[in-house]
Amino acid sequence: MNIHEYQAKQLLDKYGVAVPRGGVAHSVDEAATQAQELGGPGYVVKSQIHAGGRGAGRFKDNPDGKGGVRIVKSVEEVREAAREMLGHVLVTKQTGPAGKEVKRIYIEEGCDIARELYLGMLLDRETSRLTMMASTEGGMEIEEVAAETPEKILKVSIDPATGMLPYHARNLAFGLGLEDKQVGSAVKFMLAMYKAFTELDASIIEINPLVITAGGEVMALDAKMNFDDNALYRHKDIADLRDEDEEDPAELEASKHELNYIKLDGSIGCMVNGAGLAMSTMDIIKLYGGEPANFLDVGGGATQERVTIAFKLILTDPNVEGILVNIFGGIMRCDVIAEGVVAAARETRQDRQFAASFRTACERQYNNDSLLGVGRSPAWQRNCVVPERS
Ligand code: GDP
Ligand code: MN
Repeated sequence: MNIHEYQAKQLLDKYGVAVPRGGVAHSVDEAATQAQELGGPGYVVKSQIHAGGRGAGRFKDNPDGKGGVRIVKSVEEVREAAREMLGHVLVTKQTGPAGKEVKRIYIEEGCDIARELYLGMLLDRETSRLTMMASTEGGMEIEEVAAETPEKILKVSIDPATGMLPYHARNLAFGLGLEDKQVGSAVKFMLAMYKAFTELDASIIEINPLVITAGGEVMALDAKMNFDDNALYRHKDIADLRDEDEEDPAELEASKHELNYIKLDGSIGCMVNGAGLAMSTMDIIKLYGGEPANFLDVGGGATQERVTIAFKLILTDPNVEGILVNIFGGIMRCDVIAEGVVAAARETRQDRQFAASFRTACERQYNNDSLLGVGRSPAWQRNCVVPERS
């Protein structure tokens, strides 16, 4: 799960990570009030959307205007920036051409920047350890730095038995060329960030840029935090930060019905039970030259209603030209799936046509049993439907 920059900064602040003072606003007046409370002299007005590249992004209704992050000098200018951002659609490298409507903005005190750096933390799946990464190339996308100048990325891998130790942080700080009091400030920052990461079950923390101020302090000018969905049950306060406006409507609807749905770019919809079978079904589609339109795992205990919702979700995607239903009858009754599909097709009155074929794992067993003259076992009756032969 993703949260907004201002929410990430509030969480990090609680752990002692240095962030500028600021306040969130949903209206122009609220923005002015926040600015007055900060007191100036300078202010930064920042669009809050779940996408990066806001500084270089442009508003759809004013492509030659200013970006989604603005440095201004007066409360009146805060008002003006707020008016141009709130309710307007910001297009950045990460939003795609459709952009995202700005519904909240963050007003921060300005700060005097001496250097812009990068600091990130994530789980490195190769070493199975948390890795903190730093780079002198602040403000640039780390993927670009990794592709073009990988030697500029410094990494420390953290042994979970010891946790992050001061020397890990000092190695990064010296690698970044920090001096004197900057080193102590950076070490404090990094250790606090590690603590926040582990205690909050984050999956990514990215500070880009991390700045050294003219006064030698290390501070997070931007903050991105992602959380491990599987651990959200133990962080209700974080789960409450979810901003449903920022989520894909189909994925949001799916999560409300305990369906695992992820929209993809292809044309063949997939309705599958079991994440492993769903993955291999997508592989098979690709192997034969197709492109899956989605990942969808309806789970083992889906009801007819849930199947209907799942099918409708697949159909909300206009790119879908056909649907492959691949259901393992061993954990799910195929007639429940079939009835769900029929109900969804009736309700949505599709002009697109779909062919569905159901094959159950027990089908062959049944045929074998018949050949052997063995009747249907109760377990078989519970789990399987005989496919209509046509
Ligand atoms: P992003 O474009 O979505 O990554 O948004 P950022 O929060 O990273 O802001 C973009 C850029 O604006 C940063 O890289 C900084 O150069 C600049 N910026 C942000 N906050 C301040 C600030 O308080 N003072 C100054 N001078 N520049 C800032
Ligand atoms: Mn940034």
